[in-house]
Parts: sequence; C-alpha cells; structure tokens
Amino acid sequence: MRILLIEDDPMIGKAVLDVLRSDHYACDWVRDGVAAEAALVAGPYDLVLLDLGLPKADGLTVLRSLRARRDTVPVLIATARDAVGDRVAGLDAGADDYIVKPYDTDELLARVRALLRRSAGRGEPVISHKGVELHPATREARLHGEPLSLSPREWALLEPMLQRPGAVFSRAQLEQKLYGWKDEVSSNAVEVYVHGLRKKLGADFIRTVRGLGYVVPRE
Ligand code: CA
Repeated sequence: MRILLIEDDPMIGKAVLDVLRSDHYACDWVRDGVAAEAALVAGPYDLVLLDLGLPKADGLTVLRSLRARRDTVPVLIATARDAVGDRVAGLDAGADDYIVKPYDTDELLARVRALLRRSAGRGEPVISHKGVELHPATREARLHGEPLSLSPREWALLEPMLQRPGAVFSRAQLEQKLYGWKDEVSSNAVEVYVHGLRKKLGADFIRTVRGLGYVVPRE
C-alpha cells in the first residue's frame, strides 16, 4: 500500500515517515501544498495523510481540489488539539477521518488500517482468500491456519491482490504498491516477489496474464 505524507514540519515528517515505512508501507513525503498537488495528480496513492497548516497552499485547498477532481483516495487529516473548526472544515471538505496532533503512532497506524479496510470495502480486519490470511494489525500471515513467513515486499505485493481476487494488476501498478519515489527499483523486482510468493503459496495462486500482468484468481 502506498501512502502520501503531506507535512511541513521536518521533525514530525521524518518521524511519521519512519513509522509508516517500518510498518511496510511505501511512502512519499512532500512538504508544501503545491508539491502535494503535483504528487496527488501524479499518484496513485492508497491513502493520504494531510497536515492542514502548510506553506504555499493550505491543506484544505489541497483537499478541495483533490475532491473536485473526483479523486476518492482516503484522506486522514492531522489537526491541532484545540482546532475543532479545522476538523469540521476538513471532514466537510472531503476528509475521511482526522487525528489530533501530537498523535500516538499506534493510533495513527490503526486509523490508517481502518481507512484502507473501508476503502477496500471490507468490514472485517482480516484479509483472506483460498486459505491465505493476512492480519494487517499484527502483520501476521497464515496459510491453511499455519504461520506463513512473508517478507515486507511480498506482503506489499500480495495484500492488494488478495483484496481484489480476479482483478488483473499490471507490473507498473504492483511496483507502485512496493516502492516510493526514492526507492531503488530493479527492473525485475515484481517477477522476483511473484516467484517467491508462488513458492510459498503454490504455483497457481498468482497467475500471469500474458501482456497484462498478474491476477489472484477468484476460484
Ligand atoms: Ca504544518
């Protein structure tokens, strides 16, 4: 899952980036409203974490133009404790949830998981399909009830596919789930992780669709 972090405070930004990355999210960080707009247009992201007080263009402006483009990406706004008006304005401008600064990192990660779950149309916290279970809250994976060891990148590749069985993902789409802008991407990275996952889950669990990409079949 790929997250855009929009935060102008260098210390908060660095800390949040580290938290998100160590929880296996691919993450890009921009520090002002204009860079945020450019990143959002370039996209796609699975979630946006938006500070409202930003240089060049404030967070509400960024949010309003995002929703004016009919972009439905989940947006979590970060606001100051006493700023009730900001939270109301943010939610009314199209934010999906808010978190109060300074926030606890466990709460941040839980809100991120909840928003990703909702945007995938899932109520239950576990992602499961054909004997494979992913538990995003604990980062535990199971295969037919037995513990399954997945690397962070294998997890990052499998999670979106498992959420949408039958949907074909192109190599570029999967790369976007795996990497931020600054990560080094080797040209055959996706093939390597698909190969690793097939060894663990069975050769047919992920099928290649010639010329299009990869699919986890529905049946
Ligand atoms: Ca700020």
